[in-house]
Amino acid sequence: MKKTEKMLCYPTGEGREIQIPVVTLEGGVPGPHAVITAGIHGCEYPPILAAAEFCRTCDLQDIRGTVTVVTISTLESFRTRTPFVCPVDGKNPNRCFPGDLNGTYTQQLTYHLFHDIIAGADYHIDLHCGDMTETLAPFCEFGTGYSEKVDAMSRDIALYSGMPSLVESNLNADPGDLPQGLNYLNSVQHGVAGAIVEIGQMGRTDREYVDGQLFCIRNVLRRMGNLAGEAVPTADPAWFTTYETVYAPVQGIFVRCVEAGTDVKAGQKIGEIWDYFGNPAAQVHVPADGRILYLTSSIAVEKDGFLLDMVH
Ligand SMILES: [Zn+2]
Repeated sequence: MKKTEKMLCYPTGEGREIQIPVVTLEGGVPGPHAVITAGIHGCEYPPILAAAEFCRTCDLQDIRGTVTVVTISTLESFRTRTPFVCPVDGKNPNRCFPGDLNGTYTQQLTYHLFHDIIAGADYHIDLHCGDMTETLAPFCEFGTGYSEKVDAMSRDIALYSGMPSLVESNLNADPGDLPQGLNYLNSVQHGVAGAIVEIGQMGRTDREYVDGQLFCIRNVLRRMGNLAGEAVPTADPAWFTTYETVYAPVQGIFVRCVEAGTDVKAGQKIGEIWDYFGNPAAQVHVPADGRILYLTSSIAVEKDGFLLDMVH
């Protein structure tokens, strides 16, 4: 049994260094290898708090196999309080996997996160929440389409994550509005079962959000045989497969009339956009029946800027 805390350091060649804080928990008996990443987005705080608390409170006697935890994956974003992107090159790390050793700072960071930490694990949980200007209803998105075994493990991460809305992304299906370069989906593409878990929002650190993240970490580890104790599946979750993103038709002040987690009908109005003088400039409707998972909580929107993501 062993617990190690290590700061992985990689010079990037511009006088800068990538630093990745990693905790490794090794049990006294064999078991799978789990990887948990938090803080890919450095202003998403409940995942970081939960990952740190899990490492601090975990009893090694309860661990089987190996659990590797990255407490803050994008440390430069965390330190500088930069939402969505890494401030060094302005790139969103969760669009850059599997990374590039000869690329920009964020591309090198994601290269090391994947090749040095995630690759070779049995499964990977990527912990997120709504960012500084996003409001969000808890959900888990999991990847399938690799093999029967990997698909079943990914589905199990989702079912035992504690999240009420579960979204399946199959590698062989039309990705719809799903972006490229996602951390968890890259893992699945390389044979590591994977899912992203989202609970929390808007830079807040509510105990409820941290507890939701902690429940997910512990319950999934129990289900997979990495942690002692009984795992509990989510009772009656809602399953989805397809994303639709709604963008702002015009620039202006966005006034929404729905909350994250709302079930909507095609054509339903979800808000309107005023011009900078307060005059109505556009109405915003959803294109399909489904559930809104997250929206911008900011009222400042640009033409073609992100408003919300929904699933059906
Ligand atoms: Zn995120």
